[in-house]
Parts: sequence; structure tokens; C-alpha cells
Amino acid sequence: MKKLMLLATGGTIACTPTENGLAPTLHAQNLVDCVADKLPCEISARDVFMMDSSNMQPEEWSALARAIDEALKDCDGVVVTHGTDTMAYTAAALSYMLAGVGKPVILTGSQLPISHPLTDARLNLLRAFTAAMQGTPGVYVCFHDQLISGVRCVKTHTSSMNAFSSVNARAAGFFDVEGLHIVSPQPQPANEYRLRDGIDPHVFLLKLAPGTSPDVLRFVRQAGYRGLVIEAFGLGGLHYIRRNLVRAMEELGESGIYVLVVSQCLYEKADLSVYEVGRGLMKDYILNGRDMTTEAAVCKMMWALGQEDPVRWLKQSLVGEYR
Ligand code: ASP
Repeated sequence: MKKLMLLATGGTIACTPTENGLAPTLHAQNLVDCVADKLPCEISARDVFMMDSSNMQPEEWSALARAIDEALKDCDGVVVTHGTDTMAYTAAALSYMLAGVGKPVILTGSQLPISHPLTDARLNLLRAFTAAMQGTPGVYVCFHDQLISGVRCVKTHTSSMNAFSSVNARAAGFFDVEGLHIVSPQPQPANEYRLRDGIDPHVFLLKLAPGTSPDVLRFVRQAGYRGLVIEAFGLGGLHYIRRNLVRAMEELGESGIYVLVVSQCLYEKADLSVYEVGRGLMKDYILNGRDMTTEAAVCKMMWALGQEDPVRWLKQSLVGEYR
């Protein structure tokens, strides 16, 4: 029998009504008790946090990665319950920190608390454990009828049960009446696994609007950020007449700040070489994020800045975060 562990962090799935509104009060063991009799595996339980995922930040990602690394020394796979709001960020950060881990790490949650009569929590939990038992290594979000690579996951719906989409890649797997079908697993690095839980939260995310002032980029430097992820227009363009963002980006790069450009279009890639307004960005210190999701790009930059040689990591796709 496979040995799995549930690590709970809070979120709607663990919420019960309190006098201040819904709050995560259920423990990991309470969640396991709701599904364990339906599953042919041994499940242990541990509380890591009990929080709304809006409060999950880079420090929590590192602590969670350490808890998963520890748990996997003694079991075949881990399911992490998590709030849906920032689950895609946590999944991306864990994908880098645990790259090459060799076992499944499956994040799930729900749109309705497990105590709600119409809850999606039970099905999501059962499916997450099914994915963990199936054994495909890597970090995934399992939600509704999909298994999504942790670096391709975006929360695209606030209320639908099908809250997450796999962006710019097929879902890693899907569920139907026959069970789980794995179609596109998260690529894993060949070299030996080592937990890399270092992270630097000094990364600023800027979504451009027509007319965004270059002063914002000066602020990024003055405020001590070490990295900038910029959501540029379309294929990667940004304005330089009247308000010269290209010059301001060069200044940032020259002062040692890493800049990663992604597109503010949800689908398909940035390609800085196509338009004149993008070519201004084709400098060594300005990195093309290609078809990365914003979540995967921000977490990659924070994680890379927490490693010894950030450029080495930024210039390679580690777990299929870009093509
Ligand atoms: N606010 C909750 C959270 O992200 C939402 C959810 O879990 O669906 O923790």
C-alpha cells in the first residue's frame, strides 16, 4: 500500500463559519477523515499553516518546501491543501524549489468549504490522492477534472468549480469515468535532486498601461528591488515616445536589476524580436519570458535571486516553465 501524507495550509477547503466570517479552522486530520475510507492507501496528516492563501508569501513557500522535502523522506507522495487564491504562485515556487524531487506533490483546495452540502472539496481531495498514488513525479495542481503542471497553472475563475486553467501547455492530466489519464507530465531535470528553498522576495511585478510613467521603474530601483517582471503589450512591446520606458529599463539593467519580460496576453508567447518597440529590449540583462505565465515568471525570478547564480537559472527552462 502506498504511503501518502496530507500537509494542510488552510484555505476555503478547511474553513468553517466563525463569528468573523469563514475562517480556516479544520486540521489536516479532519480533512483526511473525510476521504480516507474511500482510498486504498495509508495517509498521515500534518498541519503546516492554517491561513487564507492571500497571506501565503515567499517565506511560507520555503517553509512548505522544507515540510514537503521532509515528508517525502518517509512516504511516496504528498497532497497539500491550500487556498485557491494564490495556489498557482505556491505551485510555481514549489516546482522550482523541489525540481527533480522524483515523487508527486499535488496541491488542491476547493471553492466551497468541505462542510458545505454542495462542496467540491471531497472530489478534489479524492482526485488529488489518486494523482499522488498514480506516482507521476513533479509539482501539480489537481482541481476539478484537471491535473495541471505547477508552472502552467493560472486561477482564471473566481467562483466556478473549474477555477484553474493550464496556460500555454496541455493539462498534465485529466479525470474521466475511467480515472486519471496522464498526458503531459511536468518535465523534470536530469541532475540529482537537492532541495533549493532559497528565495528573495524583492521582485516587483508591473503590468503596463498605455501612458505608464518611467518614474515607476525608478521607484523599483530606489525601493531596493532586485528583479522586475514586466507584463508588456502583445508580443512584448512598450512605449518610448513621450514616456521612454525603454531607456528606463536600460537604466534598471545597467544598475544590476534583472528584468524579465512577459506578455500581458494570457495565451501564447512574447517575442521581442518582431516589432521595433520590442527590439529596444533585446539586451543581455533583459530576459525574454516567452510563454511563461506571470505567476511562473514572478516565482522564477524570486527563486533564481535566492540561488547562487541567478542568470544560470533564469536562462534555462527548469521544469517546463517556458518553451
Ligand atoms: N480566500 C481563500 C484562500 O485562498 C479562497 C479559497 O481557498 O478558495 O485561502
